[in-house]
Amino acid sequence: MNIQSAVYLKSLVPGASLPERNLPVFAFIGRSNAGKSSFINTITNQKNLARSGSTPGVTQKVNLFMVNKKCYFADLPGYGYAKLSRHERKALEEIIFWYLSHTEIKFQQIFLLIDSRVGPTDSDVEMIDFLNHHHLPLIIIATKIDKLKSSERSAQLKKITTSIPGHQIIPFSSHNGEGKKEVLELMTLANA
Ligand code: GDP
Repeated sequence: MNIQSAVYLKSLVPGASLPERNLPVFAFIGRSNAGKSSFINTITNQKNLARSGSTPGVTQKVNLFMVNKKCYFADLPGYGYAKLSRHERKALEEIIFWYLSHTEIKFQQIFLLIDSRVGPTDSDVEMIDFLNHHHLPLIIIATKIDKLKSSERSAQLKKITTSIPGHQIIPFSSHNGEGKKEVLELMTLANA
């Protein structure tokens, strides 16, 4: 996909009505600080389309963007921030599960972002179980790949592959653009 335009549309909380036009959706999900905002900004060639929350975990809404006037990007709240209270964490999961449970939404692809230095955590595995259970099309993005030395890179990628079998994994860097072309190509395929 060649992204020519990407504009903020609206934010959703549970109970809100979905946009009138039922266009295909690419959704982005990950632990807070996984690099999701940077990823969205990189693939859309914008500096501040998705904002990284200064306090992790505060973006408790689904932010929708209209892309090329023909599909939506859905930026889901970052989960797994340790300092949130149980109540706050639960509210956050509710938003994510509420949005992803809409069977009428045409999910083209869900991109789940994992910090390649950290690898998958329990909260990532829980999220992946949910996505698999709902048969949502999932691709894993191994973010911040530029931070790994070449000697660490294959071991870390292997760790992710082993913990999350059966899904494509794309090494990605918002700093040097690695993986961007591949992500955009996958979006073209999914949107065909
Ligand atoms: P979010 O909370 O998932 O939206 O994460 P952000 O996109 O705000 O990124 C969290 C931190 O990681 C910020 O300090 C970013 O500058 C940094 N970061 C994000 N992506 C990359 C990357 O590809 N490479 C490097 N080196 N740092 C990154």
